[in-house]
Parts: sequence; C-alpha cells; structure tokens
Amino acid sequence: MSGGVSALRASAVRALESLTQADSTCPGLHVAPEQPGRVAIRWMGETRRSVRARVVAHTCDHCSPLAYELCASGGVLFVRRTHRSGDQPKTRESERLPDARARRMWMDLLLGKAR
Ligand SMILES: [Zn+2]
Repeated sequence: MSGGVSALRASAVRALESLTQADSTCPGLHVAPEQPGRVAIRWMGETRRSVRARVVAHTCDHCSPLAYELCASGGVLFVRRTHRSGDQPKTRESERLPDARARRMWMDLLLGKAR
C-alpha cells in the first residue's frame, strides 16, 4: 500500500502549496481544492444573527466569490461561509463547536479535507 500512502502525501503537499502560493500577488488565505475523502461540513442557515460574532480568521474574498470566516461568539466557534455571486450574498454557518474542535474543522477546511 506504499503507492496509496505516497499518493496521499502528494495530494497533501499540493494542498499546502495551493494554500501558500494560490496567487503570488495576493497575501490572503486561500482554501485548498477538495481532497479525496473530504468530510462534508453541515452548512445551516444563519442562526442568532443578532448575536455579535468576532471574526478570528478569514479566507481571501478577492480571489474567490466564496469566502470563509472562523467566528467566535459566546465562548464557542463556528465557520461562516459567504457566497457573493448575485446581488444578495448567501451566508451559511457550521455548527457551533468548542475551540479545539472548531479550529480542527477550520484547518481541515483550509486543507481541503472538509468542505
Ligand atoms: Zn486571494
């Protein structure tokens, strides 16, 4: 199974490369292409819209109409996905998670291991 392992490693390397060199002129954070066997994040309509959320990290919204934000609100974290294509941005949110689990989801999202 060494072939499978090296293929997996190659795809992880490509994911990291696309994170760091998506567009050499853009300093923003970019999500990697979806990796094989990626986990599906359950995206839900915006909840508790009135509650203020602090943006902890965000991906570039210049290079892509689809941007992600890691948000903190009330001691939990969640990811907000905003798609700007029409006149009305479409916003969806992941479930609220404790810090460590949410940051793992955020990292998997950036690496293309979750989407
Ligand atoms: Zn960019």
